[in-house]
Amino acid sequence: TEELLRNSEKLSVAGQLAAGVAHEIRNPLTSLKGFTQFMKTGAHYKEQYLDIMMSELDRIEQIINELLLLAKPQAAAFQQRPLSPILVHVVSLLESQANLNNIQFDTQIHGDLPSIHCEENQLKQVFINIVKNAMEAMTGGGRIQIAVEQTDPRYVTVVFSDNGPGIPGDVLKRLGEPFFTTKENGSGLGLMISQKIITEHNGRLEIKSEPDRGTVVKITLPIG
Ligand code: ADP
Ligand code: MG
Repeated sequence: TEELLRNSEKLSVAGQLAAGVAHEIRNPLTSLKGFTQFMKTGAHYKEQYLDIMMSELDRIEQIINELLLLAKPQAAAFQQRPLSPILVHVVSLLESQANLNNIQFDTQIHGDLPSIHCEENQLKQVFINIVKNAMEAMTGGGRIQIAVEQTDPRYVTVVFSDNGPGIPGDVLKRLGEPFFTTKENGSGLGLMISQKIITEHNGRLEIKSEPDRGTVVKITLPIG
């Protein structure tokens, strides 16, 4: 099974995004309103309500933060950047969390990787999203391989492979749709934002996955 996430209509329809945002924020807001009204009556105050309210507020904050990333002005700082330190930094950011979850990184990042014309922080954001998805998929631990392929002198491909549960076909079809998530606390925005950033880099994001055989995410970028 293969799904190519393209710069397709499903990613650029502002109306779909707006409807999704409205829906996603309305649920925690309704809950907050309910608890506020309830607590206003005084008699039913409970500490645990505050915890629920706090987590609803966190949810709204998370949605807003991810949307702000999308809305970020695009004349951003594109610069010539070597790929190796970017990947090394991403791995070092996530290493301790991986260790805690019994996940091993297997990386083949050498110093002579090419440079890319990129917005470094956005590219890091994409790589972090992809690796985090792999980590979140492997609740019982596993292995994440990061390799770099260069089959064409004009392009470099970063390949993220995990040996997690893989992605069933019906889920694969919907990847990149705003707010599509299979996680209880997922935002469902990670892949959509990643796709957008890679497209802005004139690159390509490709996901191959089969249930029980793990997932491979390939990001191909033009060498700057
Ligand atoms: P979120 O991580 O918030 O759910 P994403 O857009 O990052 O949103 O991912 C969407 C969905 O894609 C996830 O909920 C998960 O079902 C699936 N997914 C992404 N990467 C993987 C992976 N490496 N292994 C299994 N499932 C994955
Ligand atoms: Mg994610």
